[in-house]
Amino acid sequence: MSPAAVRSFLLGGCAALALSGCVEPISPPPPAPVISAEYGQLLDDVRILSADDMEGRGTGTPGGERARAYVVSRLEALGVAPAGFGRLQRFEGMGPSPEGRVLYQGFNVLGMIPGTRVGDRYIVVSAHYDHVGTYGGQIYNGADDNASGVATLLELARRLKARPPEHSVILAAFDGEERGLLGAREFVKAPPVPLSSIALNLNFDMTARAETDGHLWVTGTYQHPNLRPILEPVPAVGPVSFAFGKDTPQDVGENNWVSASDHGAFFEKGVPFLYMGVDYHPDYHRPTDDFERIKPEVFTSATELAIAGFLALDRSLDR
Ligand SMILES: [Zn+2]
Repeated sequence: MSPAAVRSFLLGGCAALALSGCVEPISPPPPAPVISAEYGQLLDDVRILSADDMEGRGTGTPGGERARAYVVSRLEALGVAPAGFGRLQRFEGMGPSPEGRVLYQGFNVLGMIPGTRVGDRYIVVSAHYDHVGTYGGQIYNGADDNASGVATLLELARRLKARPPEHSVILAAFDGEERGLLGAREFVKAPPVPLSSIALNLNFDMTARAETDGHLWVTGTYQHPNLRPILEPVPAVGPVSFAFGKDTPQDVGENNWVSASDHGAFFEKGVPFLYMGVDYHPDYHRPTDDFERIKPEVFTSATELAIAGFLALDRSLDR
């Protein structure tokens, strides 16, 4: 049950009791967050992907392999078909490590949900499942970065299997993001559909810890100003609302997020992109980015907001 549903239930209850003297408050108190069974899977996905036995999901490690098997199993359970060339896309690429640049081998996990209105145009919804692994005996669990985004992607997949999208949707759980967007770069180099048929890449990376400023940031409307009026009317969900930015020439260094995650690979190829994610927080890229630090009501709200954003984009994009 969403917070809005809880509120209308309470008001309904009061109206029903009006004859017995129930006084409706002038402005109802904010509903207590209710995490229903509906969100159990969403939270389980983050908890499982960020558990110690995933060893920080480093690209090319046994923990990364376990995380990949889990994402595959979830897509299979949801009945999401593989992309044109299969469920996995293998890649190799050079990336940073504590010992300098090394060759990584990884696998993207792909799914496809056909669209009803513009089936020959694609929205690529992406979230990287890898994280930085284990260093100095400490596991970097990466609950927010980016078990959360993968869980949001899987929840969107569940909704779209129940009610198909207008555009065809490619679900891409990328590997190798932390090593330099390696999986996303392979995807745009050897895409399962022509790049020219991709209407948008919508990338989720860190969708849980919005409590810092109450925002799920949307980056990319400076590059694609036509997309901003589609998302601006999407109302806040609980404590989380959209904010726009981190993408202008005035945003410099780590405050410019245009190439900060996998959407950067799409941007480099001229494919329209939007990124959704929360601001930096003290647990970012630290061993303390743990499941226990995620506030369920904030994460579920941010996920609902991200899904509402996807649905608005899917409805509004012509081609
Ligand atoms: Zn990330």
